[in-house]
Amino acid sequence: MFNKVLIANRGEIAIRILRACKELGIQTVAVYSTADENAMHVKMADESICIGPPPSLKSYLNIPAIISACEISGADAVHPGYGFLSENFGFVEKLEAHSIKFIGPKFEHIKMMGDKILAKKSAVNLGIPIIPGSNGEVKDFKEAKKIADKIGYPIIIKASSGGGGRGMTKVLEEKDLDSSLKKSALEAKKIFNDERVYIEKYLQNPKHIEVQIIGDEYNNLIHLGERDCSIQRRNQKLLEESPSIVDRKIRKDICQLTVDSLKSINYSSVGTVEYLYEDGNFYFMEMNTRLQVEHPVTEEIYNFDIVKEQILSASKYKLSVDQNSLNPSGHSIECRINAENPDTFIPSPGIISNFYDPGGPGVRVDSGCYSGLEIPPHYDSLIAKLIVYDKDRISCIKRLKRSLEEFVIEGIETTIPFFLDLLEQEKFLNGDYDINWLEDYQNNKERP
Ligand code: ADP
Repeated sequence: MFNKVLIANRGEIAIRILRACKELGIQTVAVYSTADENAMHVKMADESICIGPPPSLKSYLNIPAIISACEISGADAVHPGYGFLSENFGFVEKLEAHSIKFIGPKFEHIKMMGDKILAKKSAVNLGIPIIPGSNGEVKDFKEAKKIADKIGYPIIIKASSGGGGRGMTKVLEEKDLDSSLKKSALEAKKIFNDERVYIEKYLQNPKHIEVQIIGDEYNNLIHLGERDCSIQRRNQKLLEESPSIVDRKIRKDICQLTVDSLKSINYSSVGTVEYLYEDGNFYFMEMNTRLQVEHPVTEEIYNFDIVKEQILSASKYKLSVDQNSLNPSGHSIECRINAENPDTFIPSPGIISNFYDPGGPGVRVDSGCYSGLEIPPHYDSLIAKLIVYDKDRISCIKRLKRSLEEFVIEGIETTIPFFLDLLEQEKFLNGDYDINWLEDYQNNKERP
């Protein structure tokens, strides 16, 4: 078992990992930028080390500073959380060179899935259905036109190194193809330093359904069901729930296919395979080789600690459960509460003057907030995750509503009012929504 784990992250996820380490009896080291001096993860860790000024590039993405922090503290492993360095295989290589364990999958799997073009090719080789589109990178208009003519409009141009909902352009007709292609490649170069783009058929009304898996270093691998993450704005998730409303048999099949495929490449640690689901068919979109923001909804319905199991598996323990011993039940929903205006979603950093989080049966809040904390403007605006659990979806929604009503966050704007409005919408209440529903609803609402 590890002696000391350094958590190369901040906010709620750093605290989530700290809690798992504490329960496992592992010492913890927090790292922080000067903007996070008063952050909760710093107060909760056994030790903490400042790794630089506020900009992420100089702190949470600063590999030499993080490796120095490992050496100074004597940490024998690093948990990267999500975002920041969690899918950076160069970081894994450097840690290995210093004999520090990266709590995550193997270097080659991070590399394979981090490149979306390579990931799609790998999915084909593994027998996973993909969205029709280009067979790899698209270099020029001629090539793009040939593919678009074959699959039909609308299409979507995506950056091979894209992430966080960025680097995607929808093209409705041929007259926009040339300019969109050039614009996408330029943008991809600017944001991700990789100009390679590829083309996919744009699916009109799919659901975003993803499968959670976890494996150990002995090629035992299981799935923990699926999550519906179709409540999105600008391709970014706002609310996730599990189970999805997809037919039970179809769900079981996609989970099994995901497990079989990843077992065949000897995948270890946690991971999520993201699919679009339309008209009874699943299409591979991408794989995230890390813990995801929305992992708690799965933890709730499986009564299973994904983070502890991930740490144990990285320290060479065998999985503590097998597929047949798992018995999911009930329903869980997570709301991502962001420090943003609930109508415009413009970030709202500042000092939280009053913070009171909800409780009671089936209510979990993952957050690092407290009254008096300043939310810095430099990072992601996620400040709290409200996760509720109940025996079925209807009861879960009622519990979610009363929890949102109980939640007090003052001094800054948050997306709590947005969720309260969402919970009044019939389409949401019926589970009858796809990835475009929310934006359509909001656009119509804004019209007088
Ligand atoms: P990222 O890594 O940036 O999150 P993804 O590939 O996971 O990008 O896609 C994010 C979201 O974009 C999806 O959940 C979906 O809403 C939308 N999207 C991606 N590909 C397509 C597609 N081919 N057709 C329709 N929507 C898509």
